[in-house]
Amino acid sequence: MRLEDRLASKFVCTKCGSTGAEVRRFAATGTGITRFLDIQHNQFVAVSCKNCGYTEIYNPEILEGKDNLGDIIDMIFGL
Ligand SMILES: [Zn+2]
Repeated sequence: MRLEDRLASKFVCTKCGSTGAEVRRFAATGTGITRFLDIQHNQFVAVSCKNCGYTEIYNPEILEGKDNLGDIIDMIFGL
């Protein structure tokens, strides 16, 4: 399962307590040449609560390197 889907399926909003999230991966673009060189290292995943819009940002480069990603996602959302 993709990181985005795992985050969306486990999401519990820390502000309003509801579940259901919109997850988007995006690149924080630099300018000029760094825009191309760093694109793999400037990716982030934004998880937005569908109820109140509260958004959390994660670094997928870190999360996708974890063997116990499921445990970490459970911990993030306090399950
Ligand atoms: Zn919320």
